[in-house]
Amino acid sequence: MKVVQTADAFRAELSTAERPVGLVPTMGALHAGHMALLHRARSANATLAATIFVNPAQFGPQEDFLAYPRDTEADLSQMESAGVDVVFTPALEEVYPRGFDTYVDVGRIATRLEGEFRPGHFRGVATVVSKLLAIARPDRAYFGQKDAQQCLVVKQLNAELNLGAEIVVVPTVREDDGLAVSSRNVYLSPDERKAALVLHRSLSLARRLLEEGGSNAEEIRRQMRTLIDEKPLARIDYVSIADTTTLDELDQITGSALVSLAVRIGNVRLIDNITLGD
Ligand code: AMP
Repeated sequence: MKVVQTADAFRAELSTAERPVGLVPTMGALHAGHMALLHRARSANATLAATIFVNPAQFGPQEDFLAYPRDTEADLSQMESAGVDVVFTPALEEVYPRGFDTYVDVGRIATRLEGEFRPGHFRGVATVVSKLLAIARPDRAYFGQKDAQQCLVVKQLNAELNLGAEIVVVPTVREDDGLAVSSRNVYLSPDERKAALVLHRSLSLARRLLEEGGSNAEEIRRQMRTLIDEKPLARIDYVSIADTTTLDELDQITGSALVSLAVRIGNVRLIDNITLGD
């Protein structure tokens, strides 16, 4: 496994690598979710490239950029065990040199849900992903369904900026009790960890209500909110049942729907989602 720090070296490695090239961008602190992306990419590509970069541009001023868990040594050994060929671990100044002033703004879909509660977040995501796709020029790039809106944002910028990758979305990896695996789960106290189950439970409730014939989206959102509000540690940012491509909120569920939510458990903000009716 080669580890490179500069964009030029990463591009040079991949320009002569055997194709297809698969790319897995991460912010490190690797867990089973990242490993699922790496394994999926490993099995489908001749060359597997990955990146570790905690991207300051996607964190708000009050968010956890400085506290975000970092353990590059452990991440590199996990990447090696997953069969990664090349890892890009740039320093901050390599990605954002002094005077950097070019950003990618994805439109309408980036203003919804996470975009509303984390202003500037998707501008940061879209900018760094555009740069990584432009440097690596992969045949395929892998993203987790856990960040469903991010997948839509990435698909749109990849198509509209003609970056030419196939964007592959990998299903959400969960703990045995249903909690979606996340780098931020390490912040949860034992009580918060228990309360955090309410995200998955409310998504399961939505699935059950739809299966029982309920198609009124507002009624399902209401029952989800009621379930979450029963947990004193939980504070809802949003509960959404939206069109899977436009993210417009639905009145009735007639075809497929993205059920997503963001909930603060204590000081830890968690997101999760499921797709219904597909
Ligand atoms: P991050 O390091 O948090 O930026 O995540 C890197 C990639 O891993 C993103 O594409 C995430 O959507 C994906 N990911 C994070 N958690 C999970 C999970 N539980 N299951 C599947 N993919 C995930």
